[in-house]
Formats: sequence, structure tokens, C-alpha cells
Amino acid sequence: MILNTSLEIKDDTSLLLSSKWSATLPLIDTHTHFDAPVFDADRMIQAQQAYGRGVRHLILVGYVARHFERLYETQRLLAQQKIIQPAVPQTHIAVGLHPFYSDQHTEEHLSQMAQLIQQRRPLAIGEIGLDTFTAAMKQPHMLAKQQYFFKAQLDMAVQHQLPVMLHIRKAHAEALALIKAHDYDAQVLGGIAHSFSGGEQEAKAFVKLGFKLGVTGQITNPNAKKLRRAICAAVAEYGVKCLVIETDCPDMTPVMCQTSSHHASALGQDTDNEWHGAEGHNRNVPSNLPWVLLTLSELLDIAPADLARQLWQNSCDALQVDWDYLERYDS
Ligand SMILES: [Zn+2]
Repeated sequence: MILNTSLEIKDDTSLLLSSKWSATLPLIDTHTHFDAPVFDADRMIQAQQAYGRGVRHLILVGYVARHFERLYETQRLLAQQKIIQPAVPQTHIAVGLHPFYSDQHTEEHLSQMAQLIQQRRPLAIGEIGLDTFTAAMKQPHMLAKQQYFFKAQLDMAVQHQLPVMLHIRKAHAEALALIKAHDYDAQVLGGIAHSFSGGEQEAKAFVKLGFKLGVTGQITNPNAKKLRRAICAAVAEYGVKCLVIETDCPDMTPVMCQTSSHHASALGQDTDNEWHGAEGHNRNVPSNLPWVLLTLSELLDIAPADLARQLWQNSCDALQVDWDYLERYDS
């Protein structure tokens, strides 16, 4: 059922994409949960489709310690596949303890993470931050626990000189204050404020600190006026170099790829339970990334090819890497 649905989505969007713009532009999906069980049935097919739409690199981002091994296993399987079939994106890993799941994190998880960073160095630390989306998470003891884990992980980033992937939801002022008081320097180490959801002033404040703003499929929603204003305000002040794009799949499906009105978070960020697959869910996939590029291109009035090249460079800067940009890569 899920397979059929995703194939239908693919056909529709392929048609629409090719009618809008025929060239395949190289892209980096800076934030995914492509290791989630919801991709187990068709991960390799999805990886090939993403490559076909230009996605050359994708980052697998961690959120709870019990799934760290799953990140490395997914990377290993995709790398193995790439030897046989080069037309799949190269995958990279970020490990981190997500603030939404704070009640699950322990000291032991921090030590596990520290050990992992030493032995199997990831590309980044993430996703980490503060999230007061629910009333329960606003409770002083929960917020204190989130702040403790956030700081501890920023310490690790500084110690190992790694960029961070921030998850900040309804706690931008608190997060900004904590980062400013910490010796993590995004101007030096890079970093991304993933799935940015704050206002104009907050957007500019994160960019001023040296972070790039991660733009997801949310931008494709014409009603996301606050988000669009925040992105435009940051670009007006700092230029388009402050942006990167991401799918955050299986969440944040672009509006043109949605097939149902069911909007629960695929990772369970709206509920207490992790989501492992349900019929009719609008599963987002890495091959939907060009929709974010195209929407931004229209919003900022920058040609897709110019924007893609700039976003590639921005992603490399944010992640402290130097990946080759290949304008045409047929394979
Ligand atoms: Zn995420």
C-alpha cells in the first residue's frame, strides 16, 4: 500500500518537475531520517530516485541512542549498493540526542555518544537543541534536562571540532541565549538551524552567530507566511549564503507531493510514540528535495541553477567539507 502510494507520487511529481524544469541540478539533502523503518521496504529504490533528481549527498541525522547503530548500518548498506550501482547518493552521519525525546536520554547515552564520536567520527553532531512544543516539555524540570543535554553535546562538538545540527522549536530565545553563553563558535565550526521555524529577528540572530538556516518542504506551503518572511528577511540582510535545504524525510512533505490530509509527524514528534508506518501517511522522500529548491528559486527570484550552486557551497561551508560540485553528472 505504501509502495503503491509512493510510486503514484513519484509519477505525478516527475511529470510536474519535468514540465517546470528539465535539468538535474546537484543537491545536498542536509537533514534526513532515511534510516527510519518507514524506508525499509524500498530504501534502495528511493535512493536511486533521489540521485535521479540530483541528490548527491544526504545526511542521516540521529535522535535517540538506541538508533545510532541503525544510522551506521544504513550508511554501510547504501555504500555497499553504491559500489554496484553508483547512481545513489553518498550518505553521511550526524549523531545526537534530540530534545523532543529528552525523557528517554540518560548519562549513559552521552558516554555512548562520546565513544562513538571517537571511534567512528561522524560528519556532525545532531540533532540537538531545545523544544517546548508541548506543555509537558515546558515544565521546568524538562526544560532543565533539555538544556543539560544541549550543553553537554555542544561541549562534544567543541571538543571534537564538529558542526552541529540544531533542532529548535518554540524555544528560539532560550536557545540563542544558551549558545551565546557557550564557547561553540558557528563562525568557525559551521552548523545548521535545521527546519528553521522562528521569526524574522530570530532567523537573523542565528545567521549572525554563523549558522545556516535549514529550509524544508514547509516553504512550499503558500500559507507558511511567517516562515517565508523570516527566510526573506535573513536573505535580505545576509544574502542567500545563509540558507541550506533539506527534506527532513519522512516528515515535512512538500505540499505538491501530499496525497492525504493526515499531518502527523512520521517520527512521532507530535505524539509520544515513534511512528513505524501507517497507510495514507504523506511520507516524505529525498527525491522531493528539488521542490524546496524550486520554491525558494521563485520566492527569492534566483534562477534554479544559480541557487543550486550557491546552496551546494553553503552546505559545504556549514558542514566543513569540500565536496565537488558536478553540474552534469550522467550515469
Ligand atoms: Zn530531524
